[in-house]
Amino acid sequence: MLKCMNKFNLYITKGIVKQIEDEVIKSYPYEVCGVMMGRSFNDGFIVLKVQQMEGLSRHKWAFEINIREWMTIIREGRREGYRYIGLYHSHPDAQPIPSNADIHRMLECPGEIWLIVSIFREGKVKMAAYTMPSASSALARIPIEIVGREIAKSELGINNDFTSFI
Ligand SMILES: [Zn+2]
Repeated sequence: MLKCMNKFNLYITKGIVKQIEDEVIKSYPYEVCGVMMGRSFNDGFIVLKVQQMEGLSRHKWAFEINIREWMTIIREGRREGYRYIGLYHSHPDAQPIPSNADIHRMLECPGEIWLIVSIFREGKVKMAAYTMPSASSALARIPIEIVGREIAKSELGINNDFTSFI
């Protein structure tokens, strides 16, 4: 059974949720995958920037990460003041539960947070987040909290340069 991680949340701004949903819907029935970046926020992380990865093989059930592209995105994000949080990807017509391939990669990168976004034919979207806190720990589910632009702005002191990402 999955344990829920206590006192740790993944915060996502409404604008980012909309951006991810748009990508996932547009690519259906194929998977999309991308990088989540942001900052420490309250008792977790807040996602302030997402970048879809292009260099993928477009199979319905599997995505392949282009490591070079992944590193470039992280480097660019750091220059903009963001830290790497983890990856998001879609599960077309499947529940937001990590597959064996997902768990394999999570074991390789403990601490990385994974957001899985399910998309169903009728356009319904469902999200869930997970992490493997360390290589020896069990998979844990992380509660997701969607926050408005105003909260992110006041709590983080985000200036106008950042508002395009919110
Ligand atoms: Zn998956």
